[in-house]
Amino acid sequence: MLYENSIQKANLIMNLRSMGISSNNVLSAIEKVPRELFLPSNFHSYAYENNPLPIGFEQTISQPYIVALMTEALELKGNEIILEIGTGSGYQTSVLSLLSRRVYSIERIKPLLVNALSCFKKLKLTNIVCDHGDGFLGWPKLAPFDHLIVTCAIKNVDDRLLNQVRFNGICIAPVAVSPKEQRLKKITIKDKRDNDIWEDLGRVSFVPLISEYD
Ligand code: SAM
Repeated sequence: MLYENSIQKANLIMNLRSMGISSNNVLSAIEKVPRELFLPSNFHSYAYENNPLPIGFEQTISQPYIVALMTEALELKGNEIILEIGTGSGYQTSVLSLLSRRVYSIERIKPLLVNALSCFKKLKLTNIVCDHGDGFLGWPKLAPFDHLIVTCAIKNVDDRLLNQVRFNGICIAPVAVSPKEQRLKKITIKDKRDNDIWEDLGRVSFVPLISEYD
């Protein structure tokens, strides 16, 4: 099984490279995190296929390519404090934790968070701090963050979130531009919101952000 996993993992890494992921640090973090740990046991054999998979509660673990793309877009050097909205299975959080100083992550579904925390413990990832709750407003008490990553589709990335990111920090978020289309946006934060730099990283498909404020 271990041997089989390592062949599937190597194939996945080659696949990610061929899809344009070029950061060795990101690829190596993807290689280090055992994705099967974050999945229900009936999906273990699919862990290294490049697909999103169900994790219960109508939620999904993100596709490895999307995790790699979003992580690469943050241009991590290793010393950053990151805020993540939507812990989900904790897989993306774990990849980020290997490449940064600390990850703060918020999840609204308690059992998912409990499961993610147990995975972090098993992997001895001690630089992750989680909160159970609605991440719509970010985590203003702990702001500013170096970067922000949103892992559920959001209707607007506006001042309430962008003001929590430092100058020259990056926000990555899937934005629901219409009921049928989501685009992955990379926003580089400048001195004023009007000067922020918005880039489009392509079409994506995420579960929606659910909030009492929305
Ligand atoms: N990247 C994660 C992974 O690797 O498993 C997958 C995240 S999943 C696509 C999106 C997550 O966002 C879900 O777990 C969902 O419960 C969570 N979510 C949705 N709305 C939220 C909110 N307002 N606050 C916090 N989490 C939220």
